[in-house]
Amino acid sequence: MGKTCALLTAAVLLCVPGIMDYRAETAAASEMTESRKIALTFDDGPHPYYTEQLLDGLKERDVKATFFVLGKHAEEYPELVKRMYREGHLVGNHTYSHIQLNKSNHEKFKQELIKTNEVIEKLTGQEVQFVRPPYGTWDKKFEKELNMFPVLWTIDPLDWSSHNVDGIVKKVEDKAEENAIILMHDEYKTTVTAALRVVDELKEEGYEFVTIEELLFD
Ligand SMILES: [Zn+2]
Repeated sequence: MGKTCALLTAAVLLCVPGIMDYRAETAAASEMTESRKIALTFDDGPHPYYTEQLLDGLKERDVKATFFVLGKHAEEYPELVKRMYREGHLVGNHTYSHIQLNKSNHEKFKQELIKTNEVIEKLTGQEVQFVRPPYGTWDKKFEKELNMFPVLWTIDPLDWSSHNVDGIVKKVEDKAEENAIILMHDEYKTTVTAALRVVDELKEEGYEFVTIEELLFD
């Protein structure tokens, strides 16, 4: 009973025009004062075609993102990794071959992290600090051993399983909040279109897109 009332109240409140005006004003006000930080992260790239389109769109909008690249793709498309770094994006590690950590492959997983760090560092000249473990499976021991910091996510629009731009954008925007970390994959046309629309629309609401490093440590 209590729960139903709360849900109904929430639904009614959201439907009241005054509340919507208030929310719009709040968003406009925060844009003028201090913006809310949010981070776009892209896994599994670089992709020879879609990553380039995405980088073009981000550059046009002067927006910084974080790319958790696969070592094998970084080796295949080194110019794209160099470009990410040159244009102010953060390049992180997503293992060499997209290996999933399990009980019996600790050493192999660790070697993939090391190998990918070497590939990225050769291209950017920067030490790699951030890792997105595939499927989110991680062992805290690696943090000390490799001096790396794992980054998971708070919003997963499942862009890899959908070709519906509107659906992806809605899933992200419904959950958008300050300090949210959005998980996407820069290997689909729909993801590029959706990500750039999310940027345009959330910027209007007063969000500032930053790298993971800035979101977590500034
Ligand atoms: Zn992945």
